[in-house]
Amino acid sequence: MTGNPQPSSLHDLDLPALREALAGDGVNPHHAATLWRVLHREGATNLAACDFLPPLRRWIDRSVGEGKAWFLDAPELVEEIPSSDGLTRKFLLRLRDGQTIETVLMGYEGRHTVCVSTQAGCAMGCVFCATGQMGFVRHLRPGEIVAQVHHARRVLRGIDPAKRVRNLVLMGMGEPLHNYDSVMRALGIVSDTRGIALGPARIAISTVGVVPGIRRLAEEGRPYRLAVSLHGSSEEERAALVPASKRWPLAELIGACRDYGRATGKRIFFEWTLIEGENDSPATATRLAALLAGMDAHVNLIPLNPTGGYGGIESRPESARRFQAILREAGFPCTFRQRRGIDVAAGCGMLRAAKRDRRVEKTGVAG
Ligand code: SAH
Ligand code: SF4
Repeated sequence: MTGNPQPSSLHDLDLPALREALAGDGVNPHHAATLWRVLHREGATNLAACDFLPPLRRWIDRSVGEGKAWFLDAPELVEEIPSSDGLTRKFLLRLRDGQTIETVLMGYEGRHTVCVSTQAGCAMGCVFCATGQMGFVRHLRPGEIVAQVHHARRVLRGIDPAKRVRNLVLMGMGEPLHNYDSVMRALGIVSDTRGIALGPARIAISTVGVVPGIRRLAEEGRPYRLAVSLHGSSEEERAALVPASKRWPLAELIGACRDYGRATGKRIFFEWTLIEGENDSPATATRLAALLAGMDAHVNLIPLNPTGGYGGIESRPESARRFQAILREAGFPCTFRQRRGIDVAAGCGMLRAAKRDRRVEKTGVAG
């Protein structure tokens, strides 16, 4: 390979880009389909062990590997923690530059869902979120997002070869719409029917409310599901929990959601982390119902997972039930998200934070 001084990841490429890469090196681009199948359908991490026709084999030997033009994204497993109910596994994965990210495999009711990270850290600073508390480190490349799905598929295959990952949620570390282009590239790769073939309607993007990103999703006719993390039904209430709401105020966000719903005809899922005394009063629920009036909206209530940097506690069961009842009474489907193994530090960013804290304890160095 010439003209490519910086090694790049083959997992960053969609199929047209892979064809281009081969053609650029004088290899017939129809070999791209074979390589794509091996990379994405089979999920291979070692191309040396795979069977290829000689022209493709020669290109791979010449171009792929440490110190060559292309590498494969195959993050290293640092830690794997199963939940006590055995239905959730959380992985802490180390990227090439040493950054660690979290991926979760959930297996409820026979449906297997992977939750992936889109950034190392997050710039949005939601006060109750472990990822927000660590600040922004960097965006993930498309291949680093795709590789998390591959990791989960491999684990699932190891448990039972007949089982398949069916759903993908972008609810791990980071804000997907703050890393829009890489996320869209990754979703194009994982939904390609010649590879992992996840159905676009089974992919959910969760956003803190990045208004330009929501508008772009509608304009570009992206086929994925949209979840918006709201957590407050007045500007003041929301701003206390979600600093990003100063940049994209609630009124603007709801306007963008209404436009999105009108343009796409799709339901929007609103996520709400219930925090005792902060955002769980009947008045807040009534105001939320008014805010969503006329929209095709589903409200997902999430119990607060405790994090080191936030003193709030989860709502009492009776407050949570009352909150749900008010929304239902107003005609909105409103469900509780299962708490997925709080015993394995399941909230996004909590495993990485816990790891850091253990290190701090060992060395006695704080911060
Ligand atoms: N950045 C995106 C997606 C990642 S966070 C977003 O904010 O939507 C995924 C979901 O987990 C969000 O709804 C977020 O509010 C919620 N969350 C984060 N930390 C939490 C915690 N400690 N307890 C409960 N929910 C939390
Ligand atoms: Fe970022 Fe989402 Fe955490 Fe907010 S809740 S800090 S947007 S990851």
